[in-house]
Amino acid sequence: MRSIECVKCKNLDVVMRGKRYNKTGVKQLYRCNDCRSIFVEPDGFERMRHKKEDIVRAIHMHNDGLSLYKTQYHLRQHYDVNITRRTISQWTKKYGLFLKSASSNSKTH
Ligand SMILES: [Zn+2]
Repeated sequence: MRSIECVKCKNLDVVMRGKRYNKTGVKQLYRCNDCRSIFVEPDGFERMRHKKEDIVRAIHMHNDGLSLYKTQYHLRQHYDVNITRRTISQWTKKYGLFLKSASSNSKTH
């Protein structure tokens, strides 16, 4: 498990402090034992314009063999999200390997 550092003072002495629920999902909250600031775990999706679940969904569909065009079409038709094929392609390159290794542990089939 990687260590979390405080976003303000970079101290590694941080503790979990409950969870925050919002429309993009659940965020683990942390509190720094040094400066007492509370922050959410940075997960790499922070600056994304799109919801994490949409990104994960797009990557999975594309990895399952759907073309970029079909992935884009499906997301627009079923989830009302507009993502360019270029963006999907970039996500696949950026997060594809990470998601593959993360999901291989929980797959039941
Ligand atoms: Zn701190």
